[in-house]
Amino acid sequence: MPSLQDKWIAKIIRGKEDQTPLTRSEIENYQLQKIREQVSYAKQNSYFYGELYKDLNPDELCSWSDFYRLPFLTANDISERGPHFLCVRQDEISHVVTMQTSGTTDKPKKIYFTDEDIELTADYFHNGMYEMCTPEDVFLILLPAAMPNSVGDILRVGMERLGAKVIPYGLPDDYDKVLDIIEKQGVSSAVGNPIQLLTLAELGLKQGLKLQLSSVLLSTDYVPQALSKRLNKIWNCKVFEHYGMTEMGLGGGIFCPQLRGYHFRENDLLFEVVDNNGSPLPDGQWGELVFSTLNRRAMPLIRYRTGDMGRFLTAACPCGTPLKTAERVKGRINNTLPFSIAELDEIIFAIDGIVNYQASAHKQKLEFFIESTCSIKNSYTERLIAGINKAIKNNFTVNVKYRQLTPVPALALTKRKILITEE
Ligand SMILES: [Zn+2]
Repeated sequence: MPSLQDKWIAKIIRGKEDQTPLTRSEIENYQLQKIREQVSYAKQNSYFYGELYKDLNPDELCSWSDFYRLPFLTANDISERGPHFLCVRQDEISHVVTMQTSGTTDKPKKIYFTDEDIELTADYFHNGMYEMCTPEDVFLILLPAAMPNSVGDILRVGMERLGAKVIPYGLPDDYDKVLDIIEKQGVSSAVGNPIQLLTLAELGLKQGLKLQLSSVLLSTDYVPQALSKRLNKIWNCKVFEHYGMTEMGLGGGIFCPQLRGYHFRENDLLFEVVDNNGSPLPDGQWGELVFSTLNRRAMPLIRYRTGDMGRFLTAACPCGTPLKTAERVKGRINNTLPFSIAELDEIIFAIDGIVNYQASAHKQKLEFFIESTCSIKNSYTERLIAGINKAIKNNFTVNVKYRQLTPVPALALTKRKILITEE
């Protein structure tokens, strides 16, 4: 029995209702056709793509090997040439998101959307969220929701269409208040940043609250499996994960109830995994995730390198979807350190009470600054250091410092990172 999300995608791809299950080849034929249209539209309407594709005839994009010859885009292209990507008039733009980049340029990235682009996302949130919610749910949004067209606001629209009761709280500024809402208003499902949801769960546990949610959705940062397991243990909930970025129009893919990986929004986005040289990798191999928009009006992005490490699973998902399954993203591609944050995450978040950390690397010394809701036992520290040493292959001397949370977690709003200092 196809899920509601699968039925929705089938209807869009076929352009009509049809109860027979959608096939992989129908999806791929649709995507190739849409890429041809998106390339043609971008070449005709945008200064940037007009130049980039000046020697290309979009009608000759007839196969995947033709598609793989298209050049890649990076975050730097958007920072440097942002407005040149535009395919519509300024007065057709209804929403602009400005983001600071960590690339080689200091210029911010600006991503532009029309009303139609925003509607694609609202429609996706409405239909994709059936994977984890029902109209009976009381759904708490702990993502920015106050501004029109912010991620929480579009999610509110989607969830209201689904029929759920929605509480668009915004980022958790007061954890006690949020815990009180969960308890008093019977919240059954919530979405938020992984670190903030873990902090909330650990603080509730410490206060002796017996909270039970049926599902949570972790979004906006990559998710250590160890963190997901702890949330599941504390709240007894199914832990779903979402992958997306503003460039994708926010929503990229969501776990199905099998919790094996993301099924992407393949009616609007085409995903690839490529190696360092940009050659496509077969399913099963880790590489960089690259995506292309298929239906965007303001600012199509074609073969955009995400900088995130991902892979497709080779086995079909037991849920029966014709969509591909991608394993949880392992974080940023990192060529400067001989280990990844993802590896450290799995060791650090496996310990009860820890809610966040930062690390700094200086020459051969690695220092961790860890935040927790309770004091960490000495035996845990020994386990932690042994685990870290194994992950970093004893290449550094490791030092760990703790700070117990005061009411408002100091690190909770910052993403985990390893600061590298030369001097
Ligand atoms: Zn599935």
